[in-house]
Amino acid sequence: MDSSRAWAEIDLDALARNLGLVRRLVGSSVAVLLVAKADAYGHGAAAIAHHALRAGAQALCVTTCNEALELRRVGVRARIVVLGPVLGDEALPALRQGVEVAVPSLELFRALAKTARGAATKARIHLKVDTGMNRLGMTSEEALSALEELRSGPFLVLSGLMTHIAATDGARSESARRQAQDFGALVARARELGLFDGPSGRAWVHLANSACVLSGLAPLYDAVRVGAAAYGIAPDPRLFHPELAPVMSVRTRIVHVQEVKKGESVGYGGTWNATRASRIAVLPVGYDDGVDWRLGNQGEVLVRGRRVPMVGRISMDYTTIDVTDVPGVGVGEKVTLIGADGGARIRAEEIAARTGTVPYAVTCSIGKRVERVFIGGGVTPAALEPSLRALPS
Ligand SMILES: *Cc1c(COP(=O)(O)O)cnc(C)c1O
Repeated sequence: MDSSRAWAEIDLDALARNLGLVRRLVGSSVAVLLVAKADAYGHGAAAIAHHALRAGAQALCVTTCNEALELRRVGVRARIVVLGPVLGDEALPALRQGVEVAVPSLELFRALAKTARGAATKARIHLKVDTGMNRLGMTSEEALSALEELRSGPFLVLSGLMTHIAATDGARSESARRQAQDFGALVARARELGLFDGPSGRAWVHLANSACVLSGLAPLYDAVRVGAAAYGIAPDPRLFHPELAPVMSVRTRIVHVQEVKKGESVGYGGTWNATRASRIAVLPVGYDDGVDWRLGNQGEVLVRGRRVPMVGRISMDYTTIDVTDVPGVGVGEKVTLIGADGGARIRAEEIAARTGTVPYAVTCSIGKRVERVFIGGGVTPAALEPSLRALPS
């Protein structure tokens, strides 16, 4: 028997199908930037990046320079945009590797110009404009000033002009349409003033995330930045699309089975009491592995294609489930925490709804002890071979 305590199956064919769906929704003339920040939302950035690029993504987005450098280290040569912010000289090693950075304020714009000049290195930048998210980004006026200043030096090179939409249901929200309109006005103004003639070679105008793509926001300009949709996750329950194929499944095996008498309790705090003689199975995964603590007495898993309840509190390393109604289950039995088994399926969206979080947080929180196992995807890129292992059967 395989000894893996828990593993996340990452289905690279599902990734390719989702990118195919995105491609169909955005059309052939819009570049698809796969957002691979936070280890590709917990899926494993190196393999995801290589396969996404093969499956039609043109470039990648991450949050930090270290994430970008890590992708370069595993052989990704495509364009990478650091969504930032990037402070001080931390950008230099990434700039030297041709990584592009988003610049969210005039202050950072000028600091980056100084850094680039000091190191005699070109910095390819995406001006990040705030149109209503009120998180990061310069005003439209500041963006016009930055575009003006860009003309005066060779060290900063314009690679993009971008904004980010706050509404989780994209174009269905009035606020998203207003943001898109304000951004459109800026793009038009910049063009009028001759400050921006994109799409000019490498410069992209981009605003759409998964929610915008799935809700049909228009225009999409030159590129879209998709994370959730590529991983088969609906960014908002209102945007569920039947073709979104979950890329991640999380499975484990029963390590112990215990008979519990009627009236006895299970786990910390004795929060679950047996109302009948019960068979309780122990799973070697807990909240450190990404089983949300709030799933205690609330969550379900799949055993032999059937839904089975979690009983008692979730521990750091263990989860207890009631398998009384699934005869014959014993140590070594495969259990699905996220994913499909037989005709049943548990999606990250369902877990998020149960725990009051978003599905992004569900996949991001799958812990380091859970081995990522890649399935599908055809030929293995050479750079990834050491990290690929056979799928536990
Ligand atoms: C994370 C992120 C995205 C991707 O969002 P999804 O909802 O996962 O598609 C796009 N743009 C920016 C700036 C982001 O931070």
